[in-house]
Amino acid sequence: MAKQFLTSLDDEQLRSALTKLGEPRYRLDQILRWVYKDNVSTFAQMSDLPNELRIRLAERVSIRSIKLQSEYCSAEDSTRKLLFYTRDNHAIESVLIPRKDGYALCISSQVGCGMGCPFCATGYMGMSRNLESGEIIDQFLSVRDHTREMNQEVVSVIFMGMGEPMANFPNVRKAICRIISEDGCQFGVRRITISTIGVKGWVSRLSKSLKNVGLAVSLHAPDDELRMRLVPAVRNSPLAGLMQECKDHQYVTKRRTTYEYVMLRHVNDFESQAESLAKLLQGQLCHVNLIPFNRVTEAPFSPSDSVSTARFERILAGNGIPVTVRTPRGRDIDAACGQLAARDLT
Ligand code: SAH
Ligand code: SF4
Repeated sequence: MAKQFLTSLDDEQLRSALTKLGEPRYRLDQILRWVYKDNVSTFAQMSDLPNELRIRLAERVSIRSIKLQSEYCSAEDSTRKLLFYTRDNHAIESVLIPRKDGYALCISSQVGCGMGCPFCATGYMGMSRNLESGEIIDQFLSVRDHTREMNQEVVSVIFMGMGEPMANFPNVRKAICRIISEDGCQFGVRRITISTIGVKGWVSRLSKSLKNVGLAVSLHAPDDELRMRLVPAVRNSPLAGLMQECKDHQYVTKRRTTYEYVMLRHVNDFESQAESLAKLLQGQLCHVNLIPFNRVTEAPFSPSDSVSTARFERILAGNGIPVTVRTPRGRDIDAACGQLAARDLT
């Protein structure tokens, strides 16, 4: 029988597995503590479990469902990219981005992505499969382990790696619940952000079932026509509806929405588009992140020049829209936004 992966099992499944082995109820708490708080990756390390139980569990269950294959460290800015393999040999990537107080962890939710944005390397991979909740949690656990070895901490988790998290929402939700729960990893929910293209209904769904998670919406255009070209999967999801869902999210959570806007030369970086964007976002509790386009071999786009980017930023700021230009990270190791294509660079 194929082994199960512990982090993909919920408490009920774990409890019933332990009952079948004739174990008392408190064993579940012991195991959860070892895996999610103490970060152990083998049953042999669970020193307060009877030896025989450790052996029986190890025969039936694996703790980690992904294996670290390679790690790359950017020579330019200390960003780290971790390449993992799943048990069915798919490559996925997580990225550690240095911050003042630790690392932001950029996590993947799918193998590839089916949304087909023409400026994104993950989009060009196509979609292979959704990640299981355990495979998402395991990125967090493996990376936390790794950063602790460097005497550092993961201070935020952002779903901006490979894939569209809202297209795999049940598993993403399950993983987040484990990462934030008292008997899980006890990570602060407000330190987690989901980035999404915002197909109709997705933002409302997030507001309803994961209220305190941060929201980043990949906008990229101030009008429907251009947006549908840049983000083809939103063709049946007009901007008016998305803006309403975002305003409702702001009202319910009292948190600002981050709008991401990748700056593409002579495509979405004109003055008139900055003015339209300012109008679209007027009165919202929001923040705009202008992302310099990171080159992707297949993508027929060029990055905006610094003058156009500065002008775009000035127009938004002049209209009272909070805005920053994001600093690209890890470009030399293909770890920057949109460059994740799970290619082994060794
Ligand atoms: N699928 C989700 C999250 C993963 S992509 C989403 O699209 O929001 C994370 C961010 O990287 C998105 O804002 C996306 O638009 C941006 N991105 C994709 N390709 C990029 C590229 N080549 N250069 C800069 N940003 C890119
Ligand atoms: Fe998928 Fe996001 Fe890339 Fe679009 S930008 S293809 S939604 S990962």
